[in-house]
Amino acid sequence: MHVTVWKSWAPPKCKFFAWLVMQNRVWTVGRLARRGWPNCGLCPLCMQTGESSTHLLCHCRFSVRVWCDIVQWLGLQDVIPTEWSTATSVKDWWLQIAQSRAPSRSAMTSLLMLVSWEIWKERNARVFRNSATPTAVLVRNIKEEVKLWVMAGAKNLGVVMPRE
Ligand SMILES: [Zn+2]
Repeated sequence: MHVTVWKSWAPPKCKFFAWLVMQNRVWTVGRLARRGWPNCGLCPLCMQTGESSTHLLCHCRFSVRVWCDIVQWLGLQDVIPTEWSTATSVKDWWLQIAQSRAPSRSAMTSLLMLVSWEIWKERNARVFRNSATPTAVLVRNIKEEVKLWVMAGAKNLGVVMPRE
């Protein structure tokens, strides 16, 4: 699985983030709590469930809503974010997607890194800067980012890009 992460196109910072997530080493409230850092323990995106990287990236209602819009935009009918609740870890989730009938596995891997990275940045904006972006705006930003990645060399993503 790590091999696919390194092979698929993504900026280095996103690959490094993906690697940390897969190692379960990304900073979340759960980890901060264990180290005695002050926090309220709730996911900053939905404010309903305790935060973990699995919740944040593939279970959170906020993230699932963002994913549904992106998947619809790209016409990826075989990718169904509302079914991701069965994933037991981020790694498990990525494997589920890798094994699904998504049209291009490498496009999906790039997309996973891109959207996860954007959700992580949104989480940090809420935690550290107290600023929240509405779902619709975040989705628009992600679409722009997809276009930028394609221009920067993500040919795999270009294949699934809608013509506008
Ligand atoms: Zn949440």
